[in-house]
Formats: sequence, C-alpha cells, structure tokens
Amino acid sequence: MKLYNTLTHKIEKFVPIEAKKIRMYTCGPTVYHYAHIGNLRAYIFEDILEKSLTYLGYEVTRAMNITDVGHMDSDADEGEDKMLKGAKRENKTVLEIAEMYTKAFFADCQRLNIKRPEIVAKATEMIPEYIEMIIMLEQKGYTYFSNGNVYFDISKLEKYNKLTNQKLEDLQVAVRDDVEEDQFKKNPLDFGLWFTKSKFDNQELKWDSPWGVGYPGWHIECSAIAIKFLGEYMDIHCGGVDNIFPHHTNEIAQSESYLGHKWVNYWMHGEHLNDETGKMSKSKGEFLTVSLLEDKGYSALDYRFFVLQSHYRKQLIFSYEVLDGAKSALYKLKNKIQEILKDTSSQNVSKENIDKYIEKFVGYISDDLNTANVVTLIFDVIKDENINNAEKIYIINEIDKVLSLDLHTLEKKQVIDEERDIIEELIEKRNKAKTERNYAEADKIRVELNNMGITIKDTREGTIWEKGGI
Ligand code: AMP
Ligand code: ZN
Repeated sequence: MKLYNTLTHKIEKFVPIEAKKIRMYTCGPTVYHYAHIGNLRAYIFEDILEKSLTYLGYEVTRAMNITDVGHMDSDADEGEDKMLKGAKRENKTVLEIAEMYTKAFFADCQRLNIKRPEIVAKATEMIPEYIEMIIMLEQKGYTYFSNGNVYFDISKLEKYNKLTNQKLEDLQVAVRDDVEEDQFKKNPLDFGLWFTKSKFDNQELKWDSPWGVGYPGWHIECSAIAIKFLGEYMDIHCGGVDNIFPHHTNEIAQSESYLGHKWVNYWMHGEHLNDETGKMSKSKGEFLTVSLLEDKGYSALDYRFFVLQSHYRKQLIFSYEVLDGAKSALYKLKNKIQEILKDTSSQNVSKENIDKYIEKFVGYISDDLNTANVVTLIFDVIKDENINNAEKIYIINEIDKVLSLDLHTLEKKQVIDEERDIIEELIEKRNKAKTERNYAEADKIRVELNNMGITIKDTREGTIWEKGGI
C-alpha cells in the first residue's frame, strides 16, 4: 500500500510497525455545534482509510478524541473557548452542549456510514493524563510558567516544524493575532499546555493542578489520549489539512519531547471542502449540515458518493449542481444494481472473472486511496458483458466493504419489480419516440410517468428515473 505522508512530503510504501496490526489516531470533533459537511469530509476520508486497511488484511485499532474543552476560536489558543461560546449561544451548560453535539456528530456519521472508532475518549475525562504529561515535560525542561500559564518552549527543540515546509518566521506571522497573549510568551509559536489565567475568568470547567486551578490547552488532549490508548509508537495519525499547523505540529513537539523518540510514522491529511465563497464555516452563509441536505431531498450517501468521486487530497468546492450530479449518478447506479440483482440465480461465480476486478480494486485503494478510480471501476463492472450477474454482485459487494454506499439498497422510495418493468418499458418507448422526432408522443409518455409519481431526467448516460422526484 502506498500513502502520502505529510511528514516526508511524498507518497511512500506503507510499512506498519507490527506486521498486521495498525494503530491509528483521528482528531475528533469540537462539539460546540453541529459538524458541517466539510468536517464530515475529513471523517469520510478517515473511514475509507480504516476500511481500506482492514480490507487489505490489517487489524486496525483506532482512537479518536471528542474535544469538549480547551479549543479556542483560533487554533493557536487564542480568542474565546469554542465550547463556552456554544453554551452561551444556546443558554446551556458546556456539558449539555457537549453531550448534545457529540450525539449529533455520531448520528451524522451513522447516516454517512462512517464507522465509529473502536476507542472514543472525551477530552474532559483525561485530565490526570495531561497533568502527568505536563509534569514530565516540565521536568525535562521543555516548559516555562508565565502569567499563570504553562507554555511549551519551542526553542528547546531541534526542529519544531517537521510537518510543514514553511519557515518559522512565516508560521509566526500565521499565529500572531493575539498580541495580548504574546506578551507572556517567549515566542509567539510557544503554546499553552495548562491555563490558569488567560481568558480564564468565565471558564466553566476547571480542575485542580500543580499550577493552580485551570484547564488544559487544546493540543495536549490528542497526545495524551493517543499515547494512553495506542502506546508510545503509532502508525498513522490523521485529520484535515488545517490540523497540520499548529495542532499536529504541536502534538509532535510535546509527544516526542515527552516520549524521547519519534512518535508517529505516517501523518495523513484530508483536503478541505470549501463553499463557493471560500472556507466553509459554521457562522457564515448557509450552515451546511447533513440534516440540511436531507431536508433538501439529498441523502447522506449522495454526499458520501460526491466526496468519493474525488481524491481526498484534492480541494473540493461544494455546490448543489455537483451534488445533483452525484445524486443522479448514484441513483442510476443503484437502479442498475437492482436490475442485476433480479437475475443472479443459478449462476456460477468464476474466480478468474472476479479476481481480475478485485485486483484492480485493491490496486486503486492501495494507490493512496484512489476512490475516484474505484467508482469508475463499478461502472466498468456493470457494463462488462463477459461476466455474469452473480459475479458482478460479488465484486460490487467487495467494493462496498470499503466505499460503504449501500450499493444494493435503493433508498427511500422502493419500487416493486412489476412497476419497474412498466416504467422501463415506457422510458424505452419515449426514447424511441424522441429518436423518431415524435415529440408529442414523447411528452405524452412523460406525463403518463409523472402521473405514476415517476420523475425522469435525461443525462449523458441515458434517462434516469426516480419515484417521487430526482
Ligand atoms: P473541528 O471540529 O473544528 O475540530 O474539526 C473536525 C475535523 O474537520 C478536523 O479534522 C478538521 O481538520 C476538519 N475540517 C475542518 N474544516 C474542514 C473543511 N472545510 N473541509 C474538510 N475538513 C475540515
Ligand atoms: Zn488532535
């Protein structure tokens, strides 16, 4: 398997620490609001990664945090605490907000067929682990205490910015948006490990610590949770590209200083989904959630399909037109699969016919998760006249173990077989009428279909239809 490693800035052969076991960590959501579909793109990418590794025969142990404390407005520890902001907005406590949006997050994941990681840990439940880690960092001389807060001193490191190719000066400019905080730091890139003072007055959740009553910095949670559950050495750590700096850069700084050795071998990052105006956000414009898409008549899996048609390292721009295209294509695909399913009885499955496609499938997922090619492969399988229906279904089922698009279930409005035959006969008649330029007849048939509750749409690939409306 080959994967792009942000740490080395290239595609590499994947070599796990233990032959068949993989330890993987995913940065989890900050549960102060619903996840937007951009956030969920990151989790779809990580789901595909986990399922691909599992398909290739690895046993994956995956851990994820739930950020319910410590994440400021800015990733560089500045601004207001996001959880507090959410609580104020909704007139609830931080814990109520956390519980509500954690549930909502997993409900979204379920609708998107994203597998829940084996280990899920809340940031607020690991306070003793952070304190233990910070004490050790302090003893090793990596921290300093200033204005009531414990900071990590990046000048103690030989190389702080292993993940980015950017110069330190450029990174400094990137984080320097809070001058007030900066005056207490030796270097603007130093980051908080434990806060007792700054922005502290209205902090709802506080814990006792050797440095006074306070709360942890955001970055420490992922290091502590990953090391606790996955051990001192890890194969893969992932997140969205915005996590590269400062979050993952700081995770590496504190974890490797604490452990005294290299921590993670492969760092993987999914590109963003942006809206047409630029970066997707929860506060500006239309707040794009899975529920909003569903209200507009799309299914969560239409969105998953849309995402999988592109490579995870490519930026994607969201628009309803492209989502329409994905929805129609998925619908058409599922209808074709339904047709194939109708006639699979007493057909033998030839290993040779199957292997030809499974090899291609494995090749694509092993090629840095090329889901776009896998999607094209499904269409090739369906079209192939040299393999029988049972073989097609077998291959599609294998592919769906990774893509998880429920390829052989028609969503929402099920159509019974007899009805399907009538509909398809009418569509054929209409297409014939159109080729004979008998538009009156073609229109008449469209109306007849509409009266049956069937909506049709002419696409480059042919006419597609749906009961209830496309
Ligand atoms: P957060 O809840 O803000 O901590 O983010 C959760 C995950 O979503 C992280 O892995 C982010 O890197 C990722 N993420 C944030 N914005 C986007 C976006 N527009 N597109 C894709 N992933 C994103
Ligand atoms: Zn993290």
